[in-house]
Amino acid sequence: MTTSKRDYYEVLGAARDATPEDLKKAFRKQALKYHPDRNKAEDANDRFKEVNEAYQVLSDPKRKAQYDQFGHEGMNGQAGRGFDGFEGFGGFGDIFDSFFGGSTGQQSNRGADLEFQINVSFRDAAFGVARELELNRMERCERCDGNRSEPGTDVIECSTCHGEGKVRRTQRTFFGQFEQVTACPTCEGEGQQVKTACSHCSGRGTERNARKIEVQIPAGVEHGTKLVIRGEGESGGKGLPSGDLYVHIGVQRDQVFARRGNDVLMTAEVNMAMAALGGIINVETLEGSIDIDVEPGTQSGAVKRIRSAGIPQMGTGGRRGDQLVELKVVIPKKLDDQQTALLQELAESFGLERVSENSNDQGLFDRFKDAFRGEDSRA
Ligand SMILES: [Zn+2]
Ligand SMILES: [Zn+2]
Repeated sequence: MTTSKRDYYEVLGAARDATPEDLKKAFRKQALKYHPDRNKAEDANDRFKEVNEAYQVLSDPKRKAQYDQFGHEGMNGQAGRGFDGFEGFGGFGDIFDSFFGGSTGQQSNRGADLEFQINVSFRDAAFGVARELELNRMERCERCDGNRSEPGTDVIECSTCHGEGKVRRTQRTFFGQFEQVTACPTCEGEGQQVKTACSHCSGRGTERNARKIEVQIPAGVEHGTKLVIRGEGESGGKGLPSGDLYVHIGVQRDQVFARRGNDVLMTAEVNMAMAALGGIINVETLEGSIDIDVEPGTQSGAVKRIRSAGIPQMGTGGRRGDQLVELKVVIPKKLDDQQTALLQELAESFGLERVSENSNDQGLFDRFKDAFRGEDSRA
């Protein structure tokens, strides 16, 4: 769903000239208010995401500058990165770690996320398409299986955690103080240290590999949609989950069709004789062409609706929008002799009076004056 986005400053309840400190305070206040663990209102989750997104952007000087100058347009659909839902978050502790930059131990508990952009045609977006993405990502080293030690060599007990793999730390937050048990930063929870580093990965436990991933782009996808493919990001190392793969979908413009919701819009030309007499025209649809009736007396701008010829609602796999065809009545700019004669005959049958050549209708001139002025100023 694309809904118009609220201004980030408004979301945080902060002034446009707020200092970073003010923004942080405003963010904390709003985050507390809407955190789904505390706020059971139906929209709390959405509000919370909105608050997070706003703060992500406004707390980053580069993106803030971009936003200040260009607004949401300048964010290129990337502002909300990582806030698709709460699957990635645990309880409060995790949120503090990610947003308040938990001052101790920078270790992350999963691999990095990857982001890509895939552009698809209008029609592929309508019906879905499979695309191959070539990634170059960190994966677990195959030789040591992420153990970092050369296979067959000894390992030694970690001196930081004495083989326990865990360390305790006390964290102070504005909710109070609590103790956390986390993986040992030295051995990354393994309780062991490498004596002889793996010859393939030099003891990192990871290696960079080129991979091809098939991404199924769902039917009905809209421009700016972000797909999340869990676990296809970079390796988190031994015992840790991989990051996610984010795919931003760009939908190219079509020569014939435009989209409004799940309806497709197009314009078709009807010559003036058919508009008056009625007839049949052939129009393109997303799947081949189709004949549609033009009723006698059709006016330019009339809209014909072709039911269920539009775009499938994403995720439902069936229900489709309609195709709306705007009929544009075309007056020929050139006529051959026969056509001229026919039209003259028609004109006479209408009994049209010739418009006076020196019309003195001041009211009429006045009405057109503005239009001409508009053209002058544009030139
Ligand atoms: Zn290795
Ligand atoms: Zn350790």
